[in-house]
Amino acid sequence: MYNPNSLHAEEFINHAEIMDTLEYARTRKNDTTLLSEILAKARLHKGLSHREVAVLLLNEDPAVTEQLYKLANQIKLAYYGNRIVIFAPLYLSNYCVNGCTYCPYHAKNKHISRKKLTQEDIVREVTALQDMGHKRLAIEAGEDPLHNPISYILECIDTIYHIRHKNGAIRRVNVNIAATTEEEYHMLKEAGIGTYILFQETYHKESYEKLHPTGPKHNYDYHTEAMDRAMAGGIDDVGLGVLFGLENYPYELVGLLMHAEHLEAVHGVGPHTISVPRIKPAEDINPDDFDNGISDDVFAKICALIRVAVPYTGMIISTRESQAVRERVLPLGISQISGGSRTSVGGYDVPEAADDNSAQFDVSDRRTLDEVVRWLMELDYIPSFCTACYREGRTGDRFMSFCKSGQILNYCHPNALMTLQEYLEDYAAPETKRIGQALIARQIRQIPNPARREKAEAYLKEIAAGMRDFRF
Ligand code: SAM
Repeated sequence: MYNPNSLHAEEFINHAEIMDTLEYARTRKNDTTLLSEILAKARLHKGLSHREVAVLLLNEDPAVTEQLYKLANQIKLAYYGNRIVIFAPLYLSNYCVNGCTYCPYHAKNKHISRKKLTQEDIVREVTALQDMGHKRLAIEAGEDPLHNPISYILECIDTIYHIRHKNGAIRRVNVNIAATTEEEYHMLKEAGIGTYILFQETYHKESYEKLHPTGPKHNYDYHTEAMDRAMAGGIDDVGLGVLFGLENYPYELVGLLMHAEHLEAVHGVGPHTISVPRIKPAEDINPDDFDNGISDDVFAKICALIRVAVPYTGMIISTRESQAVRERVLPLGISQISGGSRTSVGGYDVPEAADDNSAQFDVSDRRTLDEVVRWLMELDYIPSFCTACYREGRTGDRFMSFCKSGQILNYCHPNALMTLQEYLEDYAAPETKRIGQALIARQIRQIPNPARREKAEAYLKEIAAGMRDFRF
């Protein structure tokens, strides 16, 4: 039976409830009274339930979609402003014992070059990432208890946090590794990680089991209950995601929102982020083998619906998507993007390695980080390298109440400008620097609190004079 408060996967992601929800939405998708009520509720910026979102998802009236997009943009601006947080993935190891049919790391793939970074390799990779200007990483690894045990992941995190190169430092390490035990999540927490990210891939249990035929990841319940163990282990910030293309998208979106509702109900805090990956070509993987690919239009609508449903949750889009698609969904609620990414193991230090076949998927947006930063600023977004919330202990419910109270303009906005200034001073191409300084001069005036504004102006001068501050 459906129960969002339960700790059992089949009760909080309940198949019957998803099917009922989709039937409810199918029969009411053109009910104009209901649609107006749902949109009116969405305008309060307090979120929507999975049932309400399903009705909007199945409705096909362009006028409703237009209202939805407007609303998604308003909510994004209200809570996240025009800041876009920048990160890069760092692939540690592609050894994997699982059999995921969509992933080139699957154990039976004998063509892929298997690689695992040594600590010396990590120093080289992270130095290259710091030279690009990155401050925030998401580390990624296949699941392999022999090659990638938790001790290896912890050692890598420790190495990464200790690398200081010129003015560079990685200030936040997010972790995307396979579902594990509460004890190991606690170790990750102690190691100072930011967000623990784990994509559900699909919420449809039967499909999940077929798509993960072998290996520990085959266990749907263990995978689906991972975020509860992570939170019990002390990790405040968790990141959800569906790999769109594996199953039908209405089922997935409803499942994803039920998962968010469950975390909020049980732990008092919803997901810190939601990622929206779509399946991409990779070594041994042809996305056309999966029947549920979604168009760019549906993708945009899903992004807008997530923004409206969970206004305080960050939304991440990776370089799996092209520049054009990223540009389309930025105003619909995206708050974090990756830039200059390499999905191969060792791809930053030796860019040729990016062309070898150790990569996880083909990157569609192949621009450098500097090009991404400049593009964002030309679109009037503020690229942010800020990690201050995490450094100040504003995680989990503390971050959420900060976000809900609208304090972001007085804190996140100036902090973002500081970190952009650092980037411009240390890494930017001359034209990027010129555009960035003009942007900062315009944006600094928008800090509402005069004392915060003056402080920010003073800091900006200090950064230009060479000061670097690890508070951000
Ligand atoms: N091994 C960990 C796990 O099982 O969660 C880390 C996952 S992997 C490094 C990160 C994510 O990439 C996966 O969760 C999956 O959603 C995504 N992925 C795998 N194959 C992909 C493909 N062909 N195209 C796009 N994304 C893919």
